[in-house]
Amino acid sequence: MTTPLDNLLDLDQSALKAYCERVGEKSFRATQLFRWIHHRGVGNFDDMTDLARSLRAKLAGVAEVRPLSTITDKTSADGTRKWLFDVGQGNAVETVYIPEDDRATLCISSQAGCAVGCRFCSTGHQGFSRNLTTGEIIAQLWHAEHQMRAKLGLGANERAISNVVMMGMGEPLQNYAQLVPALRMMLDDHGYGLSRRRVTVSTSGVVPMIDRLREDCPVALAVSLHAPDDALRDQLVPINRKYPIDELLSACERYLDAAPRDFITMEYCMLDGVNDTPAQARQLVSLVKNRLPVKFNLIPFNPFPESGLKRSSNARVQAFGEVLLEAGLVTTIRKTRGDDIDAACGQLAGEVQDRTDAQRRMTRAIPIVAAAPSAANKPVVPQPPKQ
Ligand code: SAH
Ligand code: SF4
Repeated sequence: MTTPLDNLLDLDQSALKAYCERVGEKSFRATQLFRWIHHRGVGNFDDMTDLARSLRAKLAGVAEVRPLSTITDKTSADGTRKWLFDVGQGNAVETVYIPEDDRATLCISSQAGCAVGCRFCSTGHQGFSRNLTTGEIIAQLWHAEHQMRAKLGLGANERAISNVVMMGMGEPLQNYAQLVPALRMMLDDHGYGLSRRRVTVSTSGVVPMIDRLREDCPVALAVSLHAPDDALRDQLVPINRKYPIDELLSACERYLDAAPRDFITMEYCMLDGVNDTPAQARQLVSLVKNRLPVKFNLIPFNPFPESGLKRSSNARVQAFGEVLLEAGLVTTIRKTRGDDIDAACGQLAGEVQDRTDAQRRMTRAIPIVAAAPSAANKPVVPQPPKQ
C-alpha cells in the first residue's frame, strides 16, 4: 500500500514551519511555500519557481495541495455562486459566494451534516456524518478565491473574497480543533489577509467552545438565537437543553472582551406562528437590553419539504423588526440570495450519509408545544410530515 501524501492545506503557517523542519528544510521556506499556496493559489510544486528544484522534488514525493473535487458549480441570476464539493464516502458539502456592492462574502461549511439537529435547518435534518478536516475547510476558500479571482480578472494582489462566514453546513464549534487552524490561515497576511472583523463564526451556542475561541482566535461571533425563551429554544435548537439562554448570553458577554467588534450578532430565523409575534420580540428586548450589545439579523425562513414549517410573512418580519428597533436594538433583515440555485441559508443540504441516525430521530420527534409569551396564543411548532 502506498502512504498517502500529506495535505499541505491542513497546515497553518506555524504547522508548515514545523513540517519543513521535519523534512530537513529551513523554516523560512514555509513562508514562501505558504504564500505560493494561499496567496497565489498555486497547488503544483513545479510552478513554485523561486523554490529550489531540490525542495520542489522533495515535496512532490511526500506532500500535495489537495483540492476538493467539484460535483456542481452553479451561478444564480443575482451573481451568487454555489459549489457542491465531494468529500468522499457519499458525502458532499456546499460553499456559497455572495457578491454585494461593497464586499464579497464566502459562506463555508465545517462539517458533513450536523449533529445539533435544529428543526428548521435542512442540514440538521440530514444528521451528522463527519467533521471536515482543516484542509477541507480551507480548500473551500482556496478554491473559491482563486476561481473568482480568475473570473473577475483580478491580479495576484487583489482579493475576490473580502469576508468569510462559517455559516454553511455544520456547527463549527463542534469541529473546533480543525476550525481554528483554518481561521488562522484566513487571517494570516501571507494567506488570505482577512481582518478578524471580517471572519465570522456562527454558532448554535456551544458555550465552552465560545470561551475557547475567545482565548485562541477571537473573530466576529454570530449566535443563532431563534427563540426568546428556553422552552421554545429547547425545541428549535436542541443544544439549548445543554446550554440554556442565560449561560449562552453570559458566554457572549465574556467573548466581548476579546471580540474584534463591540457587539454580538444574533441570528433569528423567522418561523410563521412559532417565534414571530410582537410579544416574542418584546421578550427578546428584555432578554438582551442592558445586558449585551447585540445586532439582530432576522432571517426569513427558507422552507424545505420535510420541515413542516412556514416562513413568516414580510409584514410579520417587519413588525417584529420594528419592535426591536424601537427598543434601540440594531436590526437588519437578511436578504435571500441565490434562491434559484438553493443557496439560501438553511437550504445547504449537500448529500450526507447519516452515521448517527439523526434523520430518523428527527422525523419521529415527539410533538412539541412551545412556551408562549402569552397563554392566549400558544404557538405550536408544527411537526414534519410523516414519511
Ligand atoms: N451551525 C451554525 C452555522 C451554520 S447555520 C449555526 O447554527 O449558527 C447558519 C445560519 O443559518 C444559522 O443562523 C441558522 O440558524 C440559519 N438557518 C438554518 N436553517 C435555516 C433555514 N431553513 N432558513 C433560514 N435560516 C436558516
Ligand atoms: Fe446545525 Fe446550524 Fe443547522 Fe442547527 S442551524 S442544525 S447548528 S447547521
